[in-house]
Amino acid sequence: MSFETFNFDPSIMAGVRAIGYVTPTPIQLQAIPPIMQGRDVIGLAQTGTGKTAAFALPILQRLLHGQRGQVGAAIISPTRELTEQTYETISKLGQKTRLRSIAIYGGVSIDQQIQRLRNGIEIAVACPGRLLDHLLKGTIDLSHLEVLVIDEADRMLDMGFLPDIQSILRCLLRQRQTLLFSATMPDDIRHLAQDILHDPVTVQIGRIMPATTVSHALYPVKQHLKTALLIELLRRTETKSVLVFTRTRYRTERVAQQLKRAGFKATSLQSDLSQPRRQAALDGFRTGAFKILVATDIAARGIDVLRISHVINYDMPESIDAYTNRIGRTGRVNRNGDALTFVTSVDASMVDDLERILNVKLERRTLQGFDYNVSAPDSGYVRSTQQLRRHTVRNQRTSNN
Ligand code: AMP
Repeated sequence: MSFETFNFDPSIMAGVRAIGYVTPTPIQLQAIPPIMQGRDVIGLAQTGTGKTAAFALPILQRLLHGQRGQVGAAIISPTRELTEQTYETISKLGQKTRLRSIAIYGGVSIDQQIQRLRNGIEIAVACPGRLLDHLLKGTIDLSHLEVLVIDEADRMLDMGFLPDIQSILRCLLRQRQTLLFSATMPDDIRHLAQDILHDPVTVQIGRIMPATTVSHALYPVKQHLKTALLIELLRRTETKSVLVFTRTRYRTERVAQQLKRAGFKATSLQSDLSQPRRQAALDGFRTGAFKILVATDIAARGIDVLRISHVINYDMPESIDAYTNRIGRTGRVNRNGDALTFVTSVDASMVDDLERILNVKLERRTLQGFDYNVSAPDSGYVRSTQQLRRHTVRNQRTSNN
């Protein structure tokens, strides 16, 4: 099956060729035909499945012969990074169509966005907060909107964007095509879908679980030895780009510093950084100037670096969804990837859940020659009585094993 079967305009096919897609991915095969027929669609697909082109190509086709200079399609997405990436994908796919798009998000000057909007655009990719600012200021006109896409809806819910989205929806006419993409379907998203979609077609790619091109392994380790283990693993493993996930912003910075001191080309990404620093970290990671990116879950949303060979969970993610999203960064579209997760004794129940969902017993690995018995320093990471208590319980449990 090839892209020819969708009968896209030659100017759009030129973009498909330029970006290098040859065979449609399963979500593209399932979602493109109903979207082209004008149906509302719910796409249950995790990142890394090719969902962006699944909605971008039919949007380009639909707007190709429409009125220029008015916003015909809006894509709402949860983070600046995902917004930029979706914008880039649409710009590349639409490079021969003369359709103009814009990426709209906060943390940067609104005036430049207003200027571009005034010059006339047809496709807006936007984070909810800044889009709402433009709507309230009257600097964007969505009265001619034909297609609305809500991308990564579950993540938007997690990030507290549902009220903003509802405010945006109140500003829009009901007559339009609506597409909603989400990796999972929590109740709030199901209700939103019932409210705003008309007779939708649901397309689902596999079970909602991590991509099968990824191999998963666990590294049991004590908390205070995680950085030493990470450094040793990185020294001994052949990798391309590596994404390391930590649970807190503080730890993200600390681990990145420790890796730099150990001689690695590492950088960090977390939401406290200014937009120029985030962009520098992302650009450096994308070009390969930094081989390792240490990030928190939220900051890493939407990172799309095809060379990512390893995702290392320095800290166990808080939910299976978060695991799926982290792992979605590697093994993208038929490439292989490794997901390595450091686990301490407090992570036992998440490991159980993960094995149940993946339906496999995950391999436990130990790094030959690594000294797992170094004791914790007296100060430093034990910060409060509560932590001290947890620490003692953990040590007792480990020594009983
Ligand atoms: P997405 O799920 O939209 O973030 O896409 C994941 C990755 O797959 C991106 O790097 C896309 O450029 C790539 N991709 C999307 N569709 C295809 C395709 N048909 N063939 C090859 N790569 C693709």
